[in-house]
Amino acid sequence: MLPEIVKGFIILACIFIPLERIFSLHKQKIFRLGWATDATYFFTGHFIGRSGAVVVTVTLSLMTNFLNRELQSKVASQPIWLQFIEAIIVSDLAYYIVHRLLHEVPWLWQFHAVHHSIERMDWLAAVRVHPCEQLLTQVCKIMPLYWLGFTKESLVVYALYSAAIAFLIHANIKVKFGILKWFVATPQFHHWHHSKVPEIHNKNFAVQLPLLDLLFGTLYMPAKKMPHKYGISDSIPAGYFGQIFYPFSRSFKKMLNKNSKQGINRYSRLLRAIAGVGLTSVASLSAVALFHGMDIPTFIASLNTKQVTVADLQQGKVKPALLIDVRSPEEYAEDRIGESPLVPLIDIEMGFGIKQVQSIVKANIKNSQPQPIIVLYCAKGGRSVKAYKQLEKIARYSQGVPGNETHKIKDISLNVVVLSGGIKAWREAVPAREDTQILASIILSEKVAIDSN
Ligand SMILES: [Zn+2]
Ligand SMILES: [Zn+2]
Repeated sequence: MLPEIVKGFIILACIFIPLERIFSLHKQKIFRLGWATDATYFFTGHFIGRSGAVVVTVTLSLMTNFLNRELQSKVASQPIWLQFIEAIIVSDLAYYIVHRLLHEVPWLWQFHAVHHSIERMDWLAAVRVHPCEQLLTQVCKIMPLYWLGFTKESLVVYALYSAAIAFLIHANIKVKFGILKWFVATPQFHHWHHSKVPEIHNKNFAVQLPLLDLLFGTLYMPAKKMPHKYGISDSIPAGYFGQIFYPFSRSFKKMLNKNSKQGINRYSRLLRAIAGVGLTSVASLSAVALFHGMDIPTFIASLNTKQVTVADLQQGKVKPALLIDVRSPEEYAEDRIGESPLVPLIDIEMGFGIKQVQSIVKANIKNSQPQPIIVLYCAKGGRSVKAYKQLEKIARYSQGVPGNETHKIKDISLNVVVLSGGIKAWREAVPAREDTQILASIILSEKVAIDSN
């Protein structure tokens, strides 16, 4: 089973590579200069994106006193299509401001220069964004949307649309968009932003609404011309790691020069050591998280999650146990542990999966008095950690709201654990034919209805 991010890469390649062949703007190879570097950005950027969402969530949870609940409920009560349009206007306005700062503040430009170092434009060029810039712009774009209270559904539509537009505006295609070119960012609009001519790449700062540049006097979109040369004159390294370190090495060199002039370069070793330790820690954390098949925030969350091993279950240390699969129905159909019921993570995140978990537990308590220990499992552990956190969050919420019966799972939340290593670890130790025999001694019942209502 391919990870979602690999599937996403294949789907995008299958859409854009043929489009770039049929409607090509410039003649160039599929595996053009810098392709491998940008492919690396594609996969690492996925994890950075998750971190951005965590930063937004944590920041908003710290500023609950500044949230306007009345405004939020008014925004959320609008139809999805209207929220979607408003989300584009709000987020692109925020992006426009940050993007101009990235061009005008010299030390910010060192990060943004990485994106402008692209010399061959295509769909994959969209992802060449320094992780620090990605985090900054993502937080600035998403924060106002969360703060204003847009619904989850409208944010999902907005996120899909903005991702599609990001790939489209960098694509090596020549297509006329007619009057739409003022309302939807196109290659005709964004390619000029990558022009090698500095006066021109300091134009077209929006990424979704060209009208914003028209409004602020920064639009450059001639009707019948397209740029021929892309890139910048700064010498940016070609490789991924060279580009990641580029902004820091520039600042560091500048600082060293300044220090040596002033005769105070005694701090340079300390700074170098701190930068080295910091980057090594982040790299090690990323490597460990990837090894566990999780993104960094989920891996950090997993450290504060009650976990049991396959051996614990085999030895009957977790008893009575109730195994719940939180993967997708397709994965569940392929293989599962015994007859454990399915409650996909997405259902738990949307809220109604919690009711299913309640029903399953209630059905089991009827059969046997002891409170079951819910053992959540997924492919390798990442999704079950997220499901665990959701159940824990809802439990904490229901504890704080007296009389709230909707999500009252206070009692069962205390007994939720995650199966370390997921079904992968289980299958390595237990062949499918032995599931029933091992589970017979620890589970409450062989099969439970998912929804007893
Ligand atoms: Zn730019
Ligand atoms: Zn771009």
